[in-house]
Amino acid sequence: MSRPRVVVVGSANMDLVAMTPVLPAAGQTVLGNDFVMVPGGKGANQAIAATRAGASGVFLGAIGSDSFGVTLKARIAASGVDTGQLRVVYGASGVAVVTVDANGENTVVVAPGANAAFVGLTEPELSAVRRADVLVTQLEIPLETVLEAATAARAAGTRVVLNAAPARELPAELLDLVDLLVVNEHEAQAVSGAGREDPGALLDAVPRAVLTLGADGAWYGDRDGTTAHIPGFPVDAVDTTGAGDAFTGALAVAWGEGRDLVDAVHWACAAGAACARHVGTSGSLPRRDEIDALFATATARPGH
Ligand code: ADP
Repeated sequence: MSRPRVVVVGSANMDLVAMTPVLPAAGQTVLGNDFVMVPGGKGANQAIAATRAGASGVFLGAIGSDSFGVTLKARIAASGVDTGQLRVVYGASGVAVVTVDANGENTVVVAPGANAAFVGLTEPELSAVRRADVLVTQLEIPLETVLEAATAARAAGTRVVLNAAPARELPAELLDLVDLLVVNEHEAQAVSGAGREDPGALLDAVPRAVLTLGADGAWYGDRDGTTAHIPGFPVDAVDTTGAGDAFTGALAVAWGEGRDLVDAVHWACAAGAACARHVGTSGSLPRRDEIDALFATATARPGH
């Protein structure tokens, strides 16, 4: 089977992570310890996740003209993602300034930088969306860009997967363009007031929806009447950051390959769980063989 073409329209950030015994209070300076710099942003993460899961992946987004931009592009490209159309805009790249204390509590400030300037999709960018099997997008870039990409996809028959993160209310204009919505519980609440008890309420907004449930797996439903709870894969989870991105990237690949969506969500759960077994975000996004190996341990296929 040829690899499905997955185009991700979204954000790229450099995550600057400092470890500290205690988080500083306002006005306070504390002496921390380790520091790491890792590529992040949901767009970049999901492009890497989809490519590692087996897609021919393209990332459309914007980096700044600073040294973070150079590093970001190199790291994303090193995962096999096509970054040939990544924009470089004058000024700062997106950064996330993260502090993590000894208990794993954290604070995060995101300065969107170039991501906020990612507006007005060009003809080559729109053409990449039109040629894709699946468009994946999120809400860390201007909403007008998400709408433009989804409109182009819909007109060309490219499937639109929206991971509605970070949580916010969504205009009906966007929901009308979504083929498959992926949300966690917090985001589901913001989109339609739906919760774990009544995930079916998501289908008032979109024709197909996935609610991710952390270690409990995921719920899938569609307007054709299919609903399924897909159990999580039991793993020794050490760090669940990035699990949602691994899940969404893998789901887009499996759907692009023509797999039934209940099966695709099941496989995506293996991707999310595989990611949770490792510390880190973009570095722990699983490759296809790792997803397949964990998927093969499933004792039963979820019913329809
Ligand atoms: P988000 O990080 O966006 O809040 P979730 O925490 O729901 O998303 O995780 C996304 C998916 O990753 C889940 O649907 C599940 O399949 C998998 N996952 C996350 N945490 C775990 C865990 N502790 N054990 C097994 N699977 C997990």
